[in-house]
Amino acid sequence: NTRLADADPEVAAAIDQELIRQQSTLEMIASENFAPAAVMEAQGSVLTNKYAEGYPGRRYYGGCEHVDVVEQLAIDRIKALFGAEHANVQPHSGAQANAAVMHALLTPGDTILGLDLAHGGHLTHGMKLNFSGRLYNVAAYGVSADDHLIDMAEVERLALEHRPQLIVAGWSAYPRHLDFAEFRRIADEVGAYLMVDMAHFAGLVAAGLHPSPVPYADVVTTTTHKTLGGPRGGVILCKQELAKKINSAVFPGQQGGPLEHVVAAKAVAFKYAAGEEFRERQARTLEGAEILALRLLSPDVMATGISLVSGGTDVHLVLVDLRDSELDGRQAEDRLHRIGITVNRNAVPFDPRPPMVSSGLRIGTPALATRGFGAAEFTEVADIIAQALIQPLTEELTERLRGRVTALAEAFPLYPDLAPAGRA
Ligand code: PLP
Repeated sequence: NTRLADADPEVAAAIDQELIRQQSTLEMIASENFAPAAVMEAQGSVLTNKYAEGYPGRRYYGGCEHVDVVEQLAIDRIKALFGAEHANVQPHSGAQANAAVMHALLTPGDTILGLDLAHGGHLTHGMKLNFSGRLYNVAAYGVSADDHLIDMAEVERLALEHRPQLIVAGWSAYPRHLDFAEFRRIADEVGAYLMVDMAHFAGLVAAGLHPSPVPYADVVTTTTHKTLGGPRGGVILCKQELAKKINSAVFPGQQGGPLEHVVAAKAVAFKYAAGEEFRERQARTLEGAEILALRLLSPDVMATGISLVSGGTDVHLVLVDLRDSELDGRQAEDRLHRIGITVNRNAVPFDPRPPMVSSGLRIGTPALATRGFGAAEFTEVADIIAQALIQPLTEELTERLRGRVTALAEAFPLYPDLAPAGRA
């Protein structure tokens, strides 16, 4: 019965500091969100103690009657949420979900065709140091130099040239919708499977505010912690005919026991995601990104050489293009950090600077929308960001902008009922 603060004051203190950081700053990392307290309660539950290798009703351990209920709820809820025929809710992460799909559908040495990491793809879509790049032969498509949009004619040309067994559509840093129907057509033309990794935009799809890949793709993967707003983890959705292959690729192909405490937290998050409040929050997420884009495209910002990749956004993030600015990605990230706004620097397509420095910033609105921000607050945040990027951050300006950030953070308290681990 010992409390964390007594058992391990060092860990408790670090958790407290992290709570304070999340409460007192503005989180704009596009892949982050704030899980509801009920999700964290499920994740912190006794289910962490349970071994449950296998699937509901077919386990290799006794005593699984209650975790079976939990896992079946998660499966049924996410199938209903996305209109999917089959769901596997066990992958520990998005990367592991993608690994399991490739394990299910491919043999090492087969060819995959995915979006280049440097143009917004994910590590697991074929980066050379990742399992995907080491086990499979990789061909990569990119975006056009003029409009920064994925060039579907180029995707088709590469598909015909490389004859991939799997085409991957999906991104970590791309501010526009994908043409799922065209990806399907190209996959059929070359006899490839189509996997859509909707990790970033799954919450928007669930809310009906983004086209769904589910009708088009053989397999759809997602994380559960980005726009979807749940615990850290992964999910695989697929057509019924691939269900067995996918399930056996996850277990025993990739993992032993599932994390049933996380599966429970996923089930809770999927229940939230089916509700009206969630839909309204995703609408504010999109509105916030649109407001941010408009502010960063205004003349005082553009005059400093700053622009946006693709000239705007359809989703929950903008990609600031600093290629023509004196400010590089690292300096820009650091400026925002100093005033209490957390973002990540990011390579932009055709980036002349090295990845550790980069010429881009990825700025997302999901976490602030969860915090309650609407048009007025996003307008204020967008102006704070613009002011920090267009002029030298003197001590006086830092103080002023930090004050505006603090006022917003205080007006929208985060986890007000959460007792710090090390205090009270
Ligand atoms: N897929 C995409 C498109 C992502 O952006 C990410 C995470 O950034 C992942 C997969 C991997 O998810 P995880 O970090 O849970 O492994």
